[in-house]
Amino acid sequence: MLSKIYDALLTLAYPQACQICAGSVEISADGVACGSCWEKTRIFSGAETLCYKCGRFLHAIPTTIQTFCHRCDEQFYDSALAVGIYENALLASVLHLKREPFVAKRLQNLFIARFQNSDFQDASLIIPVPLSKKRRLERGFNQAEVLAKILAKQTRIKLDEKSLVRKIHTPIHRAAMDTKAREMSVKNAFDVKRPKFVEGENILLVDDVFTSGATVSNCAKVLKENGAKQVYVLTVVRAA
Ligand SMILES: [Zn+2]
Ligand SMILES: [Zn+2]
Repeated sequence: MLSKIYDALLTLAYPQACQICAGSVEISADGVACGSCWEKTRIFSGAETLCYKCGRFLHAIPTTIQTFCHRCDEQFYDSALAVGIYENALLASVLHLKREPFVAKRLQNLFIARFQNSDFQDASLIIPVPLSKKRRLERGFNQAEVLAKILAKQTRIKLDEKSLVRKIHTPIHRAAMDTKAREMSVKNAFDVKRPKFVEGENILLVDDVFTSGATVSNCAKVLKENGAKQVYVLTVVRAA
């Protein structure tokens, strides 16, 4: 009730414009996008068939058997999931998270629910995909760490922001980069500083965006080389 009054007052005092359609955001939990832009965003419900390994959308009809796209066969993680497609409200929310360490309540709930409805329940350690020291300084925070903290707080799974490091400063991935260019830019970019912390653990890697999977695959590779058992991946969005 109080939050409804607060929202109403807030909309009157500071009408926040939706970053997609410029309409007004009437519920603060929606963050930077309005309700109707959220409605237009493809969010996975669990009723569609996704590649069991990389989470790629395959078709709208659910199946009970594990289905694979096979484009991800060479990647090193075991299974990856995203809340939804990189578009509309999810796109605006992810872009906002790169500027400010803020995740709106609606997205927090979607992110937590995605984990709770996943096959990742035996995860024993949450690790955010690290930024290089240089980029972390430029940005002031790591957006993957912000997401990882939300999940760790809710699930009480241990958070480890120190064991996995990014030793090479790679250029920010651009939409125009092809898969090969992305793969090359993150190859050998990661290292495990504290092997005994990851040994024998089932790791849940957390990031904001899954594009080609090259980044999380390279993280999973070094984690497994250092004794991690399973490596799961949870992101806010993935490329369609
Ligand atoms: Zn809108
Ligand atoms: Zn796949």
